[in-house]
Amino acid sequence: MIRIPSYDLSAHNTFGMKVKCALYIEYSSLDELKALLAEDLPQPVLHIGGGSNLLFRGDFPGTVLHSTIGGISFTGDDDVIVEAGAGVVFDDLVAETCRRGLWGLENLSLIPGEVGASAVQNIGAYGVEAGDVIDQVFCVEAATGEEVVFSAADCAYGYRDSRFKHEKGRYIVLKVTFRLTQKYAPVLGYGNIKAALEGRDLEALAPSDVRDAIIRIRREKLPDPAETGSAGSFFKNPVIPREHFERIVASVPDGKVPHFDLPDGLVKVPAAWMIDTCGFRGAVKGGAKVYEKQPLVIVNDSGSASPDDVIALESDIIAAVRARFGVELHPEVEHV
Ligand SMILES: Cc1cc2nc3c(=O)[nH]c(=O)nc-3n(C[C@H](O)[C@H](O)[C@H](O)COP(=O)(O)OP(=O)(O)OC[C@H]3O[C@@H](n4cnc5c(N)ncnc54)[C@H](O)[C@@H]3O)c2cc1C
Repeated sequence: MIRIPSYDLSAHNTFGMKVKCALYIEYSSLDELKALLAEDLPQPVLHIGGGSNLLFRGDFPGTVLHSTIGGISFTGDDDVIVEAGAGVVFDDLVAETCRRGLWGLENLSLIPGEVGASAVQNIGAYGVEAGDVIDQVFCVEAATGEEVVFSAADCAYGYRDSRFKHEKGRYIVLKVTFRLTQKYAPVLGYGNIKAALEGRDLEALAPSDVRDAIIRIRREKLPDPAETGSAGSFFKNPVIPREHFERIVASVPDGKVPHFDLPDGLVKVPAAWMIDTCGFRGAVKGGAKVYEKQPLVIVNDSGSASPDDVIALESDIIAAVRARFGVELHPEVEHV
């Protein structure tokens, strides 16, 4: 177990905010976690993974916990249950399952962060969400130290949403099982996956082919956290009633608004398009900047952006989108 007071969290948040916590603890087993939960730790307590969806607004006055519970195991032949510890780097899991020819996680390639958070966040990309393939989530209830197992249905997964987000801090994820398959099951209908696979025999694809294509697409438009600080998509894509969408279409000179039709007369409009249309691509506030290749992302371009720089840029974007489209953008990135 690692336990460090007054700890610099710069390396534990991909935004690269230079903030500290009162106490940082890294544990590597269920027993260590249970012992910690029985202690009188500095409050509040925040459990982090790779810190790739967090914006620290300043120093954190309490305890930051981090799991290094690792291990990936496989059970079954055609349909395979894959178990991974909360501290496993999510993309290492994807790489390993693709290497073994298992379908299910390949579209989630290169998403930063760890397995524990993938089940909290219901991470998603290119038409697949973690909740589609999660079998069970093994947790400990922080207040009681009791072990609890949730089925995917118990987790109430929705767009970047789960029960864990609504019961923040109540459960700590220990490990997650995923239901994957050897049977050919690619999901190619989203974004430009098919274009990236042009010339390939789609019937003869392996999961690693799709993974490679996704990695190529993502590298072209998303910042690499190792080089440029960010927390990925800063805002959620808004979902609005069709009448509201039609009013936006009528207000745009060429009448072209990218969108996805949803059930119940709802329409999802890419926040990136709204931000771009409001002229924010490349906009700068202090050390923070709207990423030129993908305006949904705010980057710590200078490496020295402060939380206030990011929040000021966020507020300007929200106000501009509200004024121009009558739409309220909500951050996907969790503000701590
Ligand atoms: C460049 C970039 C691209 C990205 N692309 C995508 C994308 O395509 N799709 C997508 O969905 N997301 C994307 N993200 C966001 C991010 O990668 C995900 O939200 C990821 O799941 C966060 O994982 P993490 O381990 O870093 O969690 P953190 O950011 O550390 O934590 C996220 C949340 O999970 C909680 N948590 C973490 N570990 C545990 C645990 N063991 N038990 C209980 N709660 C826990 C934290 O308290 C927090 O509420 C991107 C981020 C970046 C920087």
